[in-house]
Amino acid sequence: MNPFSWQFKSCLIFVVLIFTAAVAGGDNQPKTIAIVGGMLLDGYETPAIHHSVVLIQGNKITAAGSKHEVSIPKDAQIIDARGKTVLPGLIDLHMHLDLIGHGDYDQYYRFIGGTKRLDEIMPIAAKQMLRAGVTSAVDLGSPLSILDTKARIEAGQIPGPRLTVSGPWITRIKLDGVPDEYQLVVNSPKQAAKQAKYLIDQGVDVIKLWLGLTLQDYQAVVKVAHERGVKVHAHLYKVDAIEKALNAGVDVLQHVGSAKMPPYPDELIRRIAESRTPVIQTIAHRIWVYPATLNNPGRLDTPQMQGDMPEDLYQELQRSFKQFHRLSYFHDTPDEIRHAQINAKQFIQANAYIGVGTDAASPLNFHNDAIWREMSALVDSGMSPSRVITAATKTNAEILGQGRMLGTLEPGKLADVLIVDGDPLFDINMLKYVDMVIKDGKIWVSDGELVEK
Ligand SMILES: [Zn+2]
Repeated sequence: MNPFSWQFKSCLIFVVLIFTAAVAGGDNQPKTIAIVGGMLLDGYETPAIHHSVVLIQGNKITAAGSKHEVSIPKDAQIIDARGKTVLPGLIDLHMHLDLIGHGDYDQYYRFIGGTKRLDEIMPIAAKQMLRAGVTSAVDLGSPLSILDTKARIEAGQIPGPRLTVSGPWITRIKLDGVPDEYQLVVNSPKQAAKQAKYLIDQGVDVIKLWLGLTLQDYQAVVKVAHERGVKVHAHLYKVDAIEKALNAGVDVLQHVGSAKMPPYPDELIRRIAESRTPVIQTIAHRIWVYPATLNNPGRLDTPQMQGDMPEDLYQELQRSFKQFHRLSYFHDTPDEIRHAQINAKQFIQANAYIGVGTDAASPLNFHNDAIWREMSALVDSGMSPSRVITAATKTNAEILGQGRMLGTLEPGKLADVLIVDGDPLFDINMLKYVDMVIKDGKIWVSDGELVEK
């Protein structure tokens, strides 16, 4: 054998190996993130997987299971999740990006000059939500300028959840004190359909229907929206409005069961449960948040809240919280609290198709803590922690129509992952101890703080 030829060949093989290794570890191939050792709740209502491994490559989950099933690539970036819980990013199916928990809507909009400071406020709300573990959220009522904030989040320019937005709501009754850009007031089904078409043309993702609408209004909007593949959410409390919405084929029932009304007739509950029409109860925002604040007013003023926003806004919020029990928003709350136990339980016991939404940041209902408070209220009302976690992840993703990409941790899904310090199956309130938030494969929150402010 010619020794030179052998040397040349080995040299060539060596070069090829180096080249292959360089490509495999190079920029073309994103490094794998491995979340190792945590208790995994994958979004299904099944027992936890202990000593788990979740692998993320690029923006996708590539594996999720026990350490015996998943092998960790040698060059992976390891995230040590021992003693922690790993679950899908939470989804909030009813929130308001333009609000930050001010006590009084009229005064708030006066202070911010109508819609003048919204492009400053929406990013504050968005970062608060992401830091609380919310990786997707539905905004139900904003001026169309929210589409700009949505685009900035999608481009990765600012931290925030993936947004689904309705833009202005369609209503027959104008809400005083709220700027006109929030509402499209109609007086016929034809007008309602025209406005729905207009909103969809402007790029909204869902339609929100508000107050005083007729059966024909609901039907006209549902027809236009469904032709364009858009879902219709309706703000509903009263029995006759719920029946109209159901008859018209509205896709998501918002607020029902949040205790403004005495218990609903059994027949109505049965119909909602049987039809599998999604119910988003938004039960915590007055009924749990108000007594929690009476018990601990300290939650209204934290260094984190102060650090999140400009000083004048923070001072204005603090002004609005003085004697908060006199705020008109909480006028009926003692009555609502008395209804609450029965109302929320009605849907839970009927096994209705329940998702999770917070109505944040209505007065005192901050984006910082709204999601775990709502989930906690649902547990208080009779849902198991496991059922609530599935509702806020897998079920919410299905209601959004994004169940194929979001809501569970399994191969092929987008890598939206929440790591909390503690066991939320033992105590659902552990969800407040957010350690890490990954959205779209990127670490946005680490040690509970935003990586980029
Ligand atoms: Zn709302």
